[in-house]
Amino acid sequence: MSNEELFNKAKKFIPGGVNSPVRAFRAVGGQPFFTQKAYGCRLLTVEGQELIDYVCTWGPAILGHSPKVVLDAVTTAIHNGLSFGTPHPAEVQMAEILCQNVPSLEKVRLVNSGTEATMSCIRLARGFTNRPRILKFNGCYHGHVDSLLIKAGSGPLTLGQPDSGGIPHELASLTSSIPFNDISALRTYFEHYGSQTAAVILEPIPANAGLYLPTNDFLHELRSLCSSYNTILIFDEVMTGFRVHPGGAQALYQITPDLTALGKVIGGGLPVGAFGGRAEIMDRLAPDGDVYQAGTLSGNPITLAAGIAQLNELFKTNSWDYLESIGAQLEESLRPYIKNKPVTFHRIGSMFCLYFHPGPIHNLETARQANSQFYAHFFHSCLQQGVYLPPSQFETCFLSTAHDVDAIEKTSRIFVKALKETLGS
Ligand SMILES: *Cc1c(COP(=O)(O)O)cnc(C)c1O
Repeated sequence: MSNEELFNKAKKFIPGGVNSPVRAFRAVGGQPFFTQKAYGCRLLTVEGQELIDYVCTWGPAILGHSPKVVLDAVTTAIHNGLSFGTPHPAEVQMAEILCQNVPSLEKVRLVNSGTEATMSCIRLARGFTNRPRILKFNGCYHGHVDSLLIKAGSGPLTLGQPDSGGIPHELASLTSSIPFNDISALRTYFEHYGSQTAAVILEPIPANAGLYLPTNDFLHELRSLCSSYNTILIFDEVMTGFRVHPGGAQALYQITPDLTALGKVIGGGLPVGAFGGRAEIMDRLAPDGDVYQAGTLSGNPITLAAGIAQLNELFKTNSWDYLESIGAQLEESLRPYIKNKPVTFHRIGSMFCLYFHPGPIHNLETARQANSQFYAHFFHSCLQQGVYLPPSQFETCFLSTAHDVDAIEKTSRIFVKALKETLGS
């Protein structure tokens, strides 16, 4: 079947033809391509085009696609059974790896998606504090949790509906959302609502409205306000966990949250999530405590085989150094070209984003000023030349250890050509 036939059939049986909205290419126009195979830093489309991939399955594929160590681990694991429904050794091994590396984790529980992880953090924080309110930040995306789909990034932002239908006003009114990096808005919020607030949740490095960085002062103020009001500080590190540093953004910025949500990289490409934090809080979960949380397939042995193999390989080869070096290579090759252009390039390690705006960009309000039409043009020009970027200005690009020096060089040439076409100079 041709791509077009597949997409038409998909639209007949699947809403919008996709199982996750951003995949539909609405923000950039045109039809999404269907993939038949993924290997290394490349995707092969059903029509036989090979693409250098900077989406990396939206973050998880940090070793590239189909890395041998992960495939081998999965192949071995399937012979022992696909799901047990009982405790098993790999769960203990994964929990230990997570707790040893992520500073805030004393105890951790495994779930099946990032959404489940953040949802469980919110319930646990409300149960622990016996308070109703939640604070989040404009443009941060925490999965499709009812209480968190308020001024959210990623898909809702891309589709221009940062608040979702289907969320009762009564529930939404318990969530406040304020600008990121805005210390005075933060103080004002706490003066009014601090003592009713169960939790503050944030992406410590917001990566679902493009990519921008936190200021140190902002993170410190947040930590100290949460401590003085006994509000639970939740770092959503579903994207940044084991991506920016083995200890996540919390290790990079040396701020310890009370709870942390993980996902993506720790599953090696299979569905996963995890959440954890201070033992005193985690022990409020059932069966020890009164906050209910469960999952038929949680701690799935195949997922854990993939995830453990991926994490072990990252440590064995100290991949973060390599990722930094190719990230720097890409950045240095672009800097001279974009120097006097209305373009802002942000990068932290293996995550990067290009905004069509002169900057500075430090929150959703400034990110939204970027020119989405230019991005769409740039996106299609890159795609046509064999480079696949996220189909939205409001997403982050990812590098993997499978991106070699040649792939990066080729990408830089294609970026420059696409930028010239887009900006007309
Ligand atoms: C991807 C993501 C989620 C949601 O994870 P899913 O596995 O898609 O449910 C939550 N938070 C952040 C920061 C993410 O990037």
